[in-house]
Amino acid sequence: MKAHQTVNSNERWFRKGPPYLGKPFTVKKTAQRHAALIKILSRAGKRAARADNDELADAYRRLKAKLNACRPNQRCGSSACPKCARAFQRAKVEAEQIVIADLAKSRANKHLVFVTIIPRHMTYLPGQFDQVNVLKANRWLKDVLARHGFDRVILGSVDLGWERRRSKKYLQLHWHLAMWTTNPKSLEARLKVIFLRAQKYERPVDVRITRNVGFLGYKNKIVKLPELLRHARRHLAELSLLLDHVEPFDFLFLRKLRLSAQSQGLVLRKIKKSKRTKIRRAS
Ligand SMILES: [Zn+2]
Repeated sequence: MKAHQTVNSNERWFRKGPPYLGKPFTVKKTAQRHAALIKILSRAGKRAARADNDELADAYRRLKAKLNACRPNQRCGSSACPKCARAFQRAKVEAEQIVIADLAKSRANKHLVFVTIIPRHMTYLPGQFDQVNVLKANRWLKDVLARHGFDRVILGSVDLGWERRRSKKYLQLHWHLAMWTTNPKSLEARLKVIFLRAQKYERPVDVRITRNVGFLGYKNKIVKLPELLRHARRHLAELSLLLDHVEPFDFLFLRKLRLSAQSQGLVLRKIKKSKRTKIRRAS
């Protein structure tokens, strides 16, 4: 919660400046998307009311009011708010840039790779978005990786992709992860054994060598809002309800790293070995 307040109470994350997320995420465009989303929520509320779904109509009205009230020094802090989501994304990117530069020093012979993992069972049709459980998904991935002997620093994030495939439209929960490896090919092969594909054309695992840290903005985007506004307006209201229920930092997938809040921003630190481990190692 402290990390949340650090970002929410510092207007620098809401203005322009580094870290840059690229042209589509300027302050101006973000404000336009914020306004568009409020309209979408307003319409969804009316639609639900006409269908006599008072509970849903109320949920849309409340979220609309929350986003509407988001202003400088009184930020709503919702993961569904385009303005706040951009601020959280930038704060995460900055913390990751710093820790990556630091950790890279002792990993000079390794590649920093950008890994995408798409678990085939984590798909959600419209009307089912409330079943998405980001914390549970992150615990699942942690368990799976630990069970298969992955014991390295990982910085990642859950990403919710809108897929239009197999004549169906659905939300696909997946992960974008950054990690180091000496051998990207064998890392990919190891992961492919764990995360199997359901269809021939699927790519449940993708490993790419990075040239710089420019991918961090993309890694922490959570949803592709510009694309959703163009192609999935009808489902954006329901998706926004889901996002609003998830704390912005719960999307992070961190292994062997700890996030803490400082007055200037967020800090990621490597988790030190516990005293007990040290003693056992020493003996
Ligand atoms: Zn906000």
